[in-house]
Amino acid sequence: MNAVSKTPPRLWVTTLLFSSTALAALILVPLYGIFHGYHWYQWLAFAVYGALCGFSITAGYHRLWSHRTYEAHWSLRLIFALFGAATLQNSILIWASGHRRHHRHVDDNDRDPYSAKRGFWFSHIGWMLRDYPSGKVDFSNAKDLQRDKIVMWQHNHYIPITLAMNLGLPLLAGWLTGDIIGMLLLAGVLRIVVNHHTTFFINSLAHMWGRRPYTDENTARDNDLLAFFTFGEGYHNYHHIFQTDYRNGIRWYQWDPTKWLIKTASWLGLARNLKTVPTIRIQRAILTMQFKRAEQKLQQSSHKERWRRVLEKEAQDFAAALAEWKELQSRRYENARERLLAKWESAAIRTRVKELEYSLNMQRKRLQIMMEQFHLCPVSATQ
Ligand SMILES: [Zn+2]
Ligand SMILES: [Zn+2]
Repeated sequence: MNAVSKTPPRLWVTTLLFSSTALAALILVPLYGIFHGYHWYQWLAFAVYGALCGFSITAGYHRLWSHRTYEAHWSLRLIFALFGAATLQNSILIWASGHRRHHRHVDDNDRDPYSAKRGFWFSHIGWMLRDYPSGKVDFSNAKDLQRDKIVMWQHNHYIPITLAMNLGLPLLAGWLTGDIIGMLLLAGVLRIVVNHHTTFFINSLAHMWGRRPYTDENTARDNDLLAFFTFGEGYHNYHHIFQTDYRNGIRWYQWDPTKWLIKTASWLGLARNLKTVPTIRIQRAILTMQFKRAEQKLQQSSHKERWRRVLEKEAQDFAAALAEWKELQSRRYENARERLLAKWESAAIRTRVKELEYSLNMQRKRLQIMMEQFHLCPVSATQ
């Protein structure tokens, strides 16, 4: 391979699009504000339009179409398709099939389209600026999406839809309110740039900065600050291990408005079959990570032997709980298959699973206390 073929050809349309919108947002938007000023309703249009577009990516492109974490009524899918096109992030089909490859081959520099291991710039925006082999469009993983009429309609008419949503709608709103340029600059340009980079941060920063409480098998992180700006998508460590869950922030106090939107849509009859991962699987992931970190800390502890015995006992309890859980699962599965599961037995299994969840929760707390007592620096989940 020669030096020329090492740098793939530049994609001029995306390069010019990203640079011109970013420059306009940095220069024209403030200049117009200084010399002309904006009205409050233009800022309101920016916020409302920006939120509709943002949710169309997080709840639509991502959690609905890329991961099928729930099913949505056609009216909701149509809204997501229209406002998703307004974000200028490509069609649902291209976006979702690329994102599925990202999950399948995460951190593989040759196959993950926006592998974070290729650095911040590449995973944030660089991957779209050149024709990299890792970014080749391939719909073989998106046959289900090709059967969705709204997805295909948006894909086949992407240019007119995106022009109507990005120029037509702000122009109309500007004409109605008497300041076309102000509306185009805020609800058009600035909104696109904000929508772009909040999404892009998930591919870059959310793979570099934050905690790894559920898995360290990949670079994905949980980051509260990013979650705030990305409608809940910042709980990316959880998302990468449990991508079929419609939630990303699973705790009640975690900021995940996309989860709240999907839940509200289900109450209104616009969404159904919301998928969640069983609590016990989540606890298993957390505890596995805690044991891993405790082991690492133990190596540095001056009271190694004392702590090793305690840790071994905890590890045995953990293994026993998991074995029992697996046994309960297979009993439930076998009985359900043969339609033999009596009601009382089903209730007994559920109760036992709840007890196991409780005991794993207690173990998680014990491990936490144990690590604090190692008399070493606290074990960090950010590694
Ligand atoms: Zn995802
Ligand atoms: Zn990711």
